[in-house]
Amino acid sequence: MSLEIRLGDVVRLRKPHPCGGYEWTVVRLGADIGLHCTTCQRRVLLTRREFEKRVKTFVHRGEPASAAVTLASQPPTS
Ligand SMILES: [Zn+2]
Repeated sequence: MSLEIRLGDVVRLRKPHPCGGYEWTVVRLGADIGLHCTTCQRRVLLTRREFEKRVKTFVHRGEPASAAVTLASQPPTS
């Protein structure tokens, strides 16, 4: 099962950061997943495989990328 990861997702990891924080915001998607510690503001990069192993649960889901496109396109007025 492949995990869908979205920008703006807030996740809880199985192990705490050395700062004591468990929650991370997804700030970058790609070959590596960029995470931002919500407690100490530090950033780390994890491979998708590493991310999927470490994530315990989603605290908050970001918007799907397609939603912004749908909202931006408006029907022409005539
Ligand atoms: Zn931290």
